[in-house]
Amino acid sequence: MGEAPLCVQCRRDPVHEHWRPFCSERCRNEDLARWADGRYRVAAEPITEPETDEPVD
Ligand SMILES: [Zn+2]
Repeated sequence: MGEAPLCVQCRRDPVHEHWRPFCSERCRNEDLARWADGRYRVAAEPITEPETDEPVD
């Protein structure tokens, strides 16, 4: 009863019990890659660091 929830990645295929909330390992990996990519982008943004003249040993 009721329809199976759709994969949160492709939103096309029903969620697979083993890969919840995704339909497959592929979609899970794509989601992980998307997050990793976002983190890399954020990390790549220039960070305004306070200038410091403290000597570094
Ligand atoms: Zn999917």
